[in-house]
Amino acid sequence: MRLTAVGTSGSFPGAGNAASCYLLTWEADGRDWAVVLDLGSGALGALQEHIDPSRLDGVVLSHLHPDHCLDMTGLYVRRIYDPAVFLAPDQPGVAPVIDAAPLDVWGPAGTEERLARAYYTDPGLSPDADRSHPADLQTAFAFHTVRDRESFTVGSVRFEPFLVRHPVECYALRITAPGGGVLVYSGDTDSCDGLDAAAADADVFLCEAAFEEGRDQARDVHLTGLRAGETAVRAGARRLVLTHIPPWTRSDVVRAEAESVYSGPLDIATPGGIWDIPLGRNRQ
Ligand SMILES: [Zn+2]
Ligand SMILES: [Zn+2]
Repeated sequence: MRLTAVGTSGSFPGAGNAASCYLLTWEADGRDWAVVLDLGSGALGALQEHIDPSRLDGVVLSHLHPDHCLDMTGLYVRRIYDPAVFLAPDQPGVAPVIDAAPLDVWGPAGTEERLARAYYTDPGLSPDADRSHPADLQTAFAFHTVRDRESFTVGSVRFEPFLVRHPVECYALRITAPGGGVLVYSGDTDSCDGLDAAAADADVFLCEAAFEEGRDQARDVHLTGLRAGETAVRAGARRLVLTHIPPWTRSDVVRAEAESVYSGPLDIATPGGIWDIPLGRNRQ
């Protein structure tokens, strides 16, 4: 199972770096699978450097801040109006036909309404719709509501959301490959029991570190490098990957903070970065 960093900038895009977006790919059952974790501001462009968006099997949104979900509006346009799927019939006055199954989208309660407002269309499928109303989000997406510790699967990979500590409803994701390899994505959060539970024994812990110790005094919003490192230590994470670092936060500072407490392998996520999560676990 492979994690590819698409956009790793925190809170808003940086120069040459979109806001939060990660591509998860694996092979199973004789085919390739692809799921996107968050699709933040600017990420749809960068995503297309890695995959044709029509090949996605699903999107999982950690929360509904714009730096994690806003490019879903572009993906909606991409799926609905791509001439390859928007098969306009010859007869004038006859509605076009959408020839693509809705893409599965998992997100917190209110995801559909949030994206409808962002795109500026109506939530839901019109009562008289017969798949001939392309402005309906449900023509493009099949929405599923994420709830704390209620697992769901995409193919043979299991996703378990853990409610974390952020000003809006947000989930860390514990993602388990069929043989037991574990990737954990923190979402946006301060230190909390939910994140500790999600991250336990992770093979790769992709963890935000938006704040610098001393400079950023606010709590209940983001981790510092130090608090990310402390979480990785408590979790026994085998590799820590720091991400969601805004342009105004110094990556060398948050790295040093994390390394002051965490002695395992540590990377800073940058666009195009790749980490392979073992499909199975063979440990002493
Ligand atoms: Zn964020
Ligand atoms: Zn956020």
